[in-house]
Amino acid sequence: MSAKRSDYISWDEYFMGVAHLSGMRSKDPNTQVGACIVSPDNKILSMGYNGFPKGCSDDEFPWERENDNDRNLTKYPFVTHSELNAILNYRGGSLEGTKLYVSLFPCNECAKAIIQAGIRTVVYDSDKYAGTPSNRAAKRMFDAAGVNYVQYRKTGRMIRIEV
Ligand SMILES: [Zn+2]
Repeated sequence: MSAKRSDYISWDEYFMGVAHLSGMRSKDPNTQVGACIVSPDNKILSMGYNGFPKGCSDDEFPWERENDNDRNLTKYPFVTHSELNAILNYRGGSLEGTKLYVSLFPCNECAKAIIQAGIRTVVYDSDKYAGTPSNRAAKRMFDAAGVNYVQYRKTGRMIRIEV
């Protein structure tokens, strides 16, 4: 009889991998973010990526980041972020006490939804907007609401971020 494999991926690698995979579904030419919501006993409850709401065509609505198109529109009023999509995609009831894996630290608007949904822990990969007003507001709200946020490390070990 042989021993079990020892190089299997950790739960954190698994769920962050799913979050990144979800992000690959995004049609956004500049930003692809994915999220995955997990129960306390490590079951995937929901997933999401950044995109336009149902019925808002990926071919007709603008993907521009700046008002340089003839319609004078950017993507920002239309795009739903991955975290909000993951929360809204869930059909099972309460998300109280769950964990959210996301490839980019949540913006302030998603932070509000995360807090109100009862998600208790956010595991994020990139924090490339650290220090911006939206990022600082999100962290301030997480701190006030007691939502833990930890940066993902590929070793599977999570580093607690003190703020
Ligand atoms: Zn957001």
